[in-house]
Amino acid sequence: MRTPEPAPRRARSATRRSFVIQKHRATALHYDFRLEIGDAMPSWAVPKGPSFDPSQKRLAMEVEDHPLEYAGFEGIIPAGEYGGGTVMIWDEGTYEMLDDADPAAAHRKGELRFVLHGKKLKGRWTLVRTGERKWLLIKGRDADANTTDITETHPRSVRTKRLLAEIARDEGGDVERAASGDPAARPRRSAPATRT
Ligand code: MN
Repeated sequence: MRTPEPAPRRARSATRRSFVIQKHRATALHYDFRLEIGDAMPSWAVPKGPSFDPSQKRLAMEVEDHPLEYAGFEGIIPAGEYGGGTVMIWDEGTYEMLDDADPAAAHRKGELRFVLHGKKLKGRWTLVRTGERKWLLIKGRDADANTTDITETHPRSVRTKRLLAEIARDEGGDVERAASGDPAARPRRSAPATRT
């Protein structure tokens, strides 16, 4: 009897797909979390942004799928157009589904469990549907979990290191409105009162 050759182990990289988080100052500030699934990017608007704290369940409203090419966009969407405002590539990288699950099936089922390999976001995360378009984005309890607020400590673009207000200034957008999305550009309540 012939011994079948062992099936080639699928390279880990074969199941890696891209993800992006675009910080977006439109009517309100939010973080658009997009996962490559098939030939599009299902997308969630996360008002507070992601948290590394597993006890912080962040609301993520599912919005319309975006094309893969949109993941590379940083700049100004003109006022009056859908999503008008300033867009920053806040994080990007690859993800892999836990247990090599099929992301399209998991998306339909309403529970995506994955590992992020971003420049900012790492480790295990879960997106779970709790309503029609309502999902929660939750950090898994692993070595990457912590309680620092990544949106405060890392407010800049991973592509260009700019703040939202700097993107707006460079590209002719509304600098003042964009600045309200930048912790570093906002006067802090804890700032020394003597500073002029
Ligand atoms: Mn948006």
